[in-house]
Amino acid sequence: MRNELYQNKVSDYDIIIIGGGLGGLECGYILARKGYSVCVLEKNPQIGGCLQTFRRGRTTFDTGFHYVGGLDEGQSLHRLFRYFGLLDLPWRKMDENGFAEIILHGKSYFLASGHERFVDTLSREFPDQRRQIATYAAFLKQVGDNIMNRFSSESGDAFTDGLFERSAYEFLQETTGNSLLRDVLSGASLTMELNPETLPLYMFAQINNSFIQSAWRLEGGGGQIAESLAESIRKMGGVVHTNAAVTGLTVKDGKISGVRFCGEEARGKYVISDLHPASTIALLPETAFRKAYRNRIMQLPNTFGVFTTHLQLKENTVPYLNRNIFLYRGQSPWYVATQRADDTEVALITFQTPKAGTAYTDNIDILTPMRWQEVAQWADTSAGRRGEEYRDFKLKKAEECIALAEKRLPELRGQIAQIYTSTPLSYRDYNGTREGSAYGIRKDCRHIIYTVLTPQTQIRNLLLTGQNLNLHGVLGVSMTAFFTCARITGMETLLNELNR
Ligand SMILES: Cc1cc2nc3c(=O)[nH]c(=O)nc-3n(C[C@H](O)[C@H](O)[C@H](O)COP(=O)(O)OP(=O)(O)OC[C@H]3O[C@@H](n4cnc5c(N)ncnc54)[C@H](O)[C@@H]3O)c2cc1C
Repeated sequence: MRNELYQNKVSDYDIIIIGGGLGGLECGYILARKGYSVCVLEKNPQIGGCLQTFRRGRTTFDTGFHYVGGLDEGQSLHRLFRYFGLLDLPWRKMDENGFAEIILHGKSYFLASGHERFVDTLSREFPDQRRQIATYAAFLKQVGDNIMNRFSSESGDAFTDGLFERSAYEFLQETTGNSLLRDVLSGASLTMELNPETLPLYMFAQINNSFIQSAWRLEGGGGQIAESLAESIRKMGGVVHTNAAVTGLTVKDGKISGVRFCGEEARGKYVISDLHPASTIALLPETAFRKAYRNRIMQLPNTFGVFTTHLQLKENTVPYLNRNIFLYRGQSPWYVATQRADDTEVALITFQTPKAGTAYTDNIDILTPMRWQEVAQWADTSAGRRGEEYRDFKLKKAEECIALAEKRLPELRGQIAQIYTSTPLSYRDYNGTREGSAYGIRKDCRHIIYTVLTPQTQIRNLLLTGQNLNLHGVLGVSMTAFFTCARITGMETLLNELNR
């Protein structure tokens, strides 16, 4: 109906943004605030991409987002979220004495917030390693303290510097000879793919540092971040369309001349894509990019995906725990990324913040990495129609995750009311994520030039944004939104507003 009604309708904007995930919405916010007319096109009924939530009965579940770091004044994310008007959301600080509990070989180690407390807490477990732990913490702090240098440097969005070209794994080996300590320091890094060969040091240091600064959950779920940004965009005169899947881009004279969606066409002076670069290319005519470039982007490897077991709990049975638990069966966190498909080697157990006035949580999510190959046999199916075998596969995996979690929460099984699951196929189908990858293109410290893309494409008015470019996660995507928009506005004017 909508298609017939709006057939051939053409709308003009300064900026069209494809994808209403965090990156797209933040670009929309920045440019609407600068006075540009902005139109965000999101394919799903709900905005937010990885920040979407879903509701079952009384419980709200997060699909992706679980916590952020660095929200105290002066810290990494604070200045960015102040700019975006996101500081007033119901953020809840996690336990400063242990925002993360790393369980290795059956023993718990706590990562504390605040660099000094971090050093003191871990040094109690590794008394002969105090100097090494202090060196590690000081290095991470320095990387975090210099975060704003990125915004003022000439090549801020290029990320071709020493820390991106250095291996995080090698850095840890140089920092301490104690392999257990190395595993503990890396233990909360399920928010990235700990691949010993590829992971750039900048990524490891910046993300881990932000949590050591301070760690925060959002009461009510990550969807509020997306809703707040969309509401601000609308208030500033912008448009956010949902159920608006972009199906193609028209190119004329080396520029995007039209964005097609739902039988409509939108025209913009600039088009920003929050999609995986390969998905962006797939929207373009084959001749839009040189064949070699096109093939290279299409073939870039992606990080692993995530299997999530969402547990709805019986009311008032599980006391809220204000920290995340990272439970390893036995392998080093650095080998989890390359685990065999039939092993569940790690579980990130995370608690939903309780409703006001109660000490109990409504739900727990258990996350574990899942590679595309594990679900590839169902690649041609769609949600709700994947068949019995897929259902059994998910049940078996959920069972493994619960069994692993029981090592820390022995009462858990009896406290479960309902189980829901999501796999990389869910992310592919709902978010259009390539291979259901959790963190997008795998950045490779050995091949930075090929794996860390800049926002500018070969098409003059087509820019990229989002987690696939340089740093993923809420912090990384927020930084990238500025780098993308700076290609239109210049960085200086954005920096002035950020620093205000
Ligand atoms: C399981 C999981 C847990 C995570 N946990 C955390 C965490 O705790 N903390 C943290 O900081 N980060 C976390 N992350 C990472 C973080 O959520 C992401 O890095 C970030 O949200 C990515 O935002 P994005 O805008 O780049 O991409 P996306 O969120 O993927 O947004 C892309 C958007 O484009 C839309 N789209 C796709 N195709 C089309 C089309 N043709 N037309 C229109 N729209 C389209 C999609 O529907 C989607 O809304 C997690 C990620 C996952 C997967």
